[in-house]
Amino acid sequence: MLTGSCLCAVNKYTVTNEDVAAARKITCHCARCRKISGGYTTTNLILPKTSFKLTSASTWRSVVPGLSNNCTSTFNAVLPGDKHGHICFCRHCGSVIYRESEMQGFSGLVFVPVGTLDDIDSVSNLREEEWY
Ligand SMILES: [Zn+2]
Ligand SMILES: [Zn+2]
Repeated sequence: MLTGSCLCAVNKYTVTNEDVAAARKITCHCARCRKISGGYTTTNLILPKTSFKLTSASTWRSVVPGLSNNCTSTFNAVLPGDKHGHICFCRHCGSVIYRESEMQGFSGLVFVPVGTLDDIDSVSNLREEEWY
């Protein structure tokens, strides 16, 4: 089981090992990812939504119809140019926890920033793809 959290650790998550092994690890250079992360690039794991579980969630409510539920310790922002996509942030520290999109090819998947993993070396053996 992989674990991760936001900066303040109010929001924690788990990913099952089998799903980590099948994950794609993408380093993206696009303008949107730069704006989201504040860095030159962003590296995300792309995983099935079903394998990603926020474990700190207490009060669940759906804020984006058809997409993942949210909890009171997070808030969602809509992704510009992707009206069905959103980014889930920690309400307390502002870290990006995951994002998802309903754009073609991404439905049912979550993007999880590798920097939120508790042990970043646990995904060092995954082949890295680069997107521009
Ligand atoms: Zn936090
Ligand atoms: Zn990108």
